Amino acid sequence: MKLSVRPKVYSLPSYSLTGDLLGYLRCGLQYRYTRIGKLPSSRPVQLWFGEFIHGVLEEAFRRYQERFKKGEHALPPWAADELNSIFELIKKRLSARGLVPWDDDLERLGDLRATAAIQEMGPHLFPLIHRAEVRLYGARALPSIDKSWEFREADRYEMVGVIDVVTHVELQDPKHQDNPIVRAVLASLPKMPVENFEVIIDYKGMRRPPVSGGSYWAQYAWQLQTYGELRRRQPDALPVAAGVLVYLNELYPTKTDFETIRREVKRGKTDIPPKLGSEAEAILKSWPSKEKEAPLLPFDYRLQRSLRALPINDESIADALNAFDEVVKRIETCKGKEAKGLPVMDAWERNASDENTCTVCDSRTYCPDFQKTFGRKTGETHPKLPGFKSKEEGWGHSSRD
Ligand code: SF4
Repeated sequence: MKLSVRPKVYSLPSYSLTGDLLGYLRCGLQYRYTRIGKLPSSRPVQLWFGEFIHGVLEEAFRRYQERFKKGEHALPPWAADELNSIFELIKKRLSARGLVPWDDDLERLGDLRATAAIQEMGPHLFPLIHRAEVRLYGARALPSIDKSWEFREADRYEMVGVIDVVTHVELQDPKHQDNPIVRAVLASLPKMPVENFEVIIDYKGMRRPPVSGGSYWAQYAWQLQTYGELRRRQPDALPVAAGVLVYLNELYPTKTDFETIRREVKRGKTDIPPKLGSEAEAILKSWPSKEKEAPLLPFDYRLQRSLRALPINDESIADALNAFDEVVKRIETCKGKEAKGLPVMDAWERNASDENTCTVCDSRTYCPDFQKTFGRKTGETHPKLPGFKSKEEGWGHSSRD
């Protein structure tokens, strides 16, 4: 009797849009260690901040919805006690997962941004929300890589993501006529859709990137377009007409953010300069940089800077999917090189174009690209032990630094 041979295990590689694809584009080597190797970061600043603000907005919307369904007055602004109870709840949840703010200043900044998001943006955003935290899945053909690095049988890959908010916007509804989010969506659409449709919203725990001089501008647009594609294939979805990125840092900019806005406005690098003769323009021009804290810009300007609305259509989706297929191909090539025996440092691409990414990277003390690009400026040319957290002393560094 002829026995059949068991086929090779077929596993579908899974790529999340933010954690994998955007993470890899930030820096391949950092992605290899933190995402694939699961090495915890010694300074999880961005992680805490992003998770905190997402968690706060989700909980705030849950409370709004609960009251709205009971017929109670639900819209923010809310009392300080209510906000604090939300913040404490989310901090406890994050702390149970080992995520704590790096220091008191970061925690204070997180509270201030979350307050601006609920109290100032919430009244415009919450009434538009249809569903929050919508999980997305889809499969695509796995791009083929150079034969010498091939290491698996799969011919498809899974693409996953989570949309923060799905809205059902009725553009003609008179009660939304003055809503700045609806107005931003309307302004982005080349022509008014004829049928009911959805708008997807994605929160970003970052400032609005400049339109030129960096790749984040295009990459986050690809992410939104791909969310649009995955969402429109779900059975309960209406056609997706547009997406909105919400750059949450713009709702409460730090002094550094404020100075960056000024610089970008001066050099024409931002697509949202203040209107001529506006209060925002006057503040940006007249503020003396030696002050300790930057003044808060008017809310309409901060909200305008935080919203980036993009139309979603077949063409823009196809461009984004092609761009992400190319990223998957690059990741698969790096994985293949490592699987075939190349050292991690040689197998993975590195990207030292963004100083902020490198500054919080634990590989910086042995990464050749960091030494080349920033080593002289920072003086970090030798390995040192990562920071630690003790209950009594707060965050610190090993005495063997
Ligand atoms: S230091 Fe910069 S280039 Fe080097 S691995 Fe880290 S993020 Fe990448």
